[in-house]
Amino acid sequence: MIKIRWTGAAGLEFDLGGRTFLVDPYVSRLSKFSILFKALVSDKSAVQSFVQDRDGSIAGMVAGHTHFDHALDLPGILPFCRGPVVGSKSLDTLLACHGTTPRVTVCQGGETVALDHDISVTMILSAHGRVMLGRVPYPGEINGCTRLPMKAPGYGLGTMFMPKLVINGTTIIHAGSAGVDLHAVDGHTCDVLFMCVPGWKRSPDYVTTLPRLVKPKIIVPFHYDDFSRPLGSGPGFPVLPFLDMDGFVRAVSTSWPKADVVFLNPNRSLEI
Ligand SMILES: [Zn+2]
Repeated sequence: MIKIRWTGAAGLEFDLGGRTFLVDPYVSRLSKFSILFKALVSDKSAVQSFVQDRDGSIAGMVAGHTHFDHALDLPGILPFCRGPVVGSKSLDTLLACHGTTPRVTVCQGGETVALDHDISVTMILSAHGRVMLGRVPYPGEINGCTRLPMKAPGYGLGTMFMPKLVINGTTIIHAGSAGVDLHAVDGHTCDVLFMCVPGWKRSPDYVTTLPRLVKPKIIVPFHYDDFSRPLGSGPGFPVLPFLDMDGFVRAVSTSWPKADVVFLNPNRSLEI
């Protein structure tokens, strides 16, 4: 059995009987003021308690792209990661800026990398959603970091991936932004499709074609929490405005009616 947990923003955690694999962990959840006006600093105590809750050891990490809400905390988690780290050239640059020994398996698109004997990731090329005034935020690479910490625009997109994880024959696709490269994803299928919700209306192919192409049994909407606020410990959590979640569900269900759309609260497990 695989336990999959949405850890907030585009973060997913795969718990394979005591081994924890992460995609895009973001636990700092910096305030809007920090995001807009300040140089971004990973919250050390949030990272520490996140890692401690996972017995102080991470078995592998994947970054879908290098915007701050996907990559800011990776340098802080890295010392606790005993396994592979997979991502783009920008991720490699970011980690090098923090003085870590180079260890990223740098992908350009289409590569399959083993994270352990029973889990692999294929780094499908993708496209980012137009979530900032109709545009893709902070395009381009992270090009060296002469000054750390960097402000949000320093965390350039890098290569945009839609990682596909295969765990003991079960396949999960992580669509960490509301965009798709139809050519790159063609031929890939999955059991579970995690779909970023914000920006879906500006990317028609993402909702009308992606589900039909990859044929999931389950679609899980995610990345719609307000990641500038704490998740809290109660049953509710802060949600971004203007999502039109009903419209999103209608669109993906029309594209691929065979999928169940399952809502998962952050830090609750989906067991498959
Ligand atoms: Zn992004």
